[in-house]
Amino acid sequence: MLKDKGFYFVPLGGSEQFGVNLNVYGCDGDLLAVDCGIGFADERFPGIDLLLPDPAHLEEARDRLAGMIITHAHEDHVGAVAHLWDRLECPLYATPFTAEILRLKLNEQGYKHVKVHEIMPGQAIDIGPFHVNFLAVAHSIPDAVALHIETPYGGIVHSGDWNLDPAPVAGPRTEAETFKEVGKKGVIAYIGDSTNADRPGRSGSESSVAKGLASVMKSKKRQGGYHHLFLQYRADCQHR
Ligand SMILES: [Zn+2]
Repeated sequence: MLKDKGFYFVPLGGSEQFGVNLNVYGCDGDLLAVDCGIGFADERFPGIDLLLPDPAHLEEARDRLAGMIITHAHEDHVGAVAHLWDRLECPLYATPFTAEILRLKLNEQGYKHVKVHEIMPGQAIDIGPFHVNFLAVAHSIPDAVALHIETPYGGIVHSGDWNLDPAPVAGPRTEAETFKEVGKKGVIAYIGDSTNADRPGRSGSESSVAKGLASVMKSKKRQGGYHHLFLQYRADCQHR
């Protein structure tokens, strides 16, 4: 159990493993959870499809759990909430797209009326002793955010998944200015995790993937009706 005084980061899942994200911040005994996702089982787990993080420590301290923020709607960040909901039952916070996905997942598991607080990128809220700024970042899904979490002990940046795509197709770019402003307020630690972040070089922009897909779809024009749908989707993205 955490001490009553101080500011802690406790990764209950996801650090140094793929998926199963469940991060916890502690400030003077109050807790804030960030993301709660599934992992996909491999040959080490015969007969098992999904892995869930172990929330036992969080459940024990549930009366001090001020809330849970979901940074984006990928399964490895949102997918375990509904499966573990009866052990957590805390205030939930997410951007609108993520909140809608989360509601659908809770509904599927029979939790029909769970409130998910919608926070826009650029907004800040107080959750217990944590002052949390939602920062827009680019990722391969709409409405992804990084978090600047401020406490009386200082602030940390929790990036979630993000990239530096110069021309993302699912939302705004990650703006360096946003993080420069955060840096001026003071950051005592950066908690970041992004697949392949330790590989040198740059990855390509998702807009170039769209071009490649368009040419493949074009060549398949006579074989099915997907080409029209794809062009419509691409046009919608460009007009956002
Ligand atoms: Zn992701």
